[in-house]
Amino acid sequence: MEYYSRHISNLVEQLAGLPGIGAKSAQRLAFHIMHMPKEQVGQLTAAIKDAREKVQYCKCCCTLTDQEICPICSNPSRDRQTIMVVENPRDLAAYEKTEKYEGVYHVLHGAISPMLGIGPEDIRLTELMQRLQGDVKEVIIATNSSLEGETTAMYISKLIKPSGIRVSRIASGVPVGGDLECIDEVTLLRALEGRVDL
Ligand code: ZN
Repeated sequence: MEYYSRHISNLVEQLAGLPGIGAKSAQRLAFHIMHMPKEQVGQLTAAIKDAREKVQYCKCCCTLTDQEICPICSNPSRDRQTIMVVENPRDLAAYEKTEKYEGVYHVLHGAISPMLGIGPEDIRLTELMQRLQGDVKEVIIATNSSLEGETTAMYISKLIKPSGIRVSRIASGVPVGGDLECIDEVTLLRALEGRVDL
């Protein structure tokens, strides 16, 4: 039996499908939305729709961007010979906030995880290897220090090594299992400066 409108049940179901939102939070959010002014709800749904429809993957580094090529890749003063490999755009943003990294990035959108069934073909590795056909001097692997991040770093390192391009890994000043985006800028910079060759 339905305790309330099926429209609300549907909304709860949709919200509960989002990561980190349990059944209780979904209900709380749904009822909060019911009490919001209609205009505000319109702005929220438009923002979701706009972001999903207008944002695309950068043709070069695969980060999320409004343009075909993201502002970092199209910035002529960035050093294109140095590519930092990160797991997601949030990690990219964390390094950008330090304002000290002058190279470009490559966003994998995930990490290899045999446990979750995520293989090398499920992340943006092909695109990375294609970029390495160009003039690249160093690839800095800045995946997280979780098991998945380390597995990914090892895999990429093995893949790139034969090409003769320098491969380095950010220093392990980053706490194990720590998400890059939660780490302060000083620690990030120290990890970058203390990177070791693989
Ligand atoms: Zn880009």
